[in-house]
Amino acid sequence: MSEFPPPVPSAALGVAVNAAAIAALLPSEFRALQIEVVASTGSTNADLMARLPELETAVLRLALQQTAGRGRAGRSWLSEGGELLTFSLAWRMRQPVHGLLGLPLAIGVALAEALIELDVQVQLKWPNDVLRERKKLAGILIESTQAEGGGSWVVVGIGLNLIVPDELEARIGNAVADAPWLARMDRNALMAQLIRHLAASCEQFDLQGFAPFLPRWNRLHAYAQEAVQIIDHGRVLHLGIALGVDLAGCLVLQTDSGQVTVWAGDVSLRPV
Ligand code: ATP
Repeated sequence: MSEFPPPVPSAALGVAVNAAAIAALLPSEFRALQIEVVASTGSTNADLMARLPELETAVLRLALQQTAGRGRAGRSWLSEGGELLTFSLAWRMRQPVHGLLGLPLAIGVALAEALIELDVQVQLKWPNDVLRERKKLAGILIESTQAEGGGSWVVVGIGLNLIVPDELEARIGNAVADAPWLARMDRNALMAQLIRHLAASCEQFDLQGFAPFLPRWNRLHAYAQEAVQIIDHGRVLHLGIALGVDLAGCLVLQTDSGQVTVWAGDVSLRPV
């Protein structure tokens, strides 16, 4: 850690979040992580992506408020008026960018396993939403770029709903999940738990690829053996039974005309 900002109180609950306290709860192998807590920013992913050329070490940036959170393909991740954890982890990988296929799914597994350890029963929706009771509890946005001198940098962005009031849910436009008891947990311990799983998974993916995550993802699959459709800009591309994911992180569907493998790209999955 290179800086020790004073505790920043969370607006809604007055929970003190402190970079030094989070760092102290991390295992020694992740102590070099630089942790930043800011009161408000547009997007923690955008902040870190802009700083990648000058980053020398892994950075975790947590914003108590995020005013322009992003999802995949330019979609928005909304948090204003709610109590959310919004943060991003910039991590240097030995793998080049083209070796990162499957990383978004691996990060879904990491986040889900971290939450399950805290007794939050979650499942995964392909490619990488974390669901509780079939509603979205957390979103993941991963951006990556080639690193100078080889390998790549990834920025893993997480938005985790702790308390979503009706008014925010109405603005999102879908029923979403939250986990109010997590909001009452020591925020530094909660962050340390999530960081531990996310950083360990970046390391594991870098060394072993998606293989060790494949059975774990399929065990957490929310729609296993259920009828789903794959939508692209409102158009149904495929309809079939969701079998699970393969080693490339593609979704395998059993359709009337045989098995189909779907790349994540910009498509969305919907239960039928
Ligand atoms: P889809 O939800 O269509 O399958 P996706 O999973 O790719 O798409 P993301 O890009 O990960 O979605 O996240 C953006 C979407 O998440 C938004 O379009 C909105 O529907 C939803 N969303 C935005 N804010 C929240 C939130 N706080 N909690 C849950 N869902 C949200």
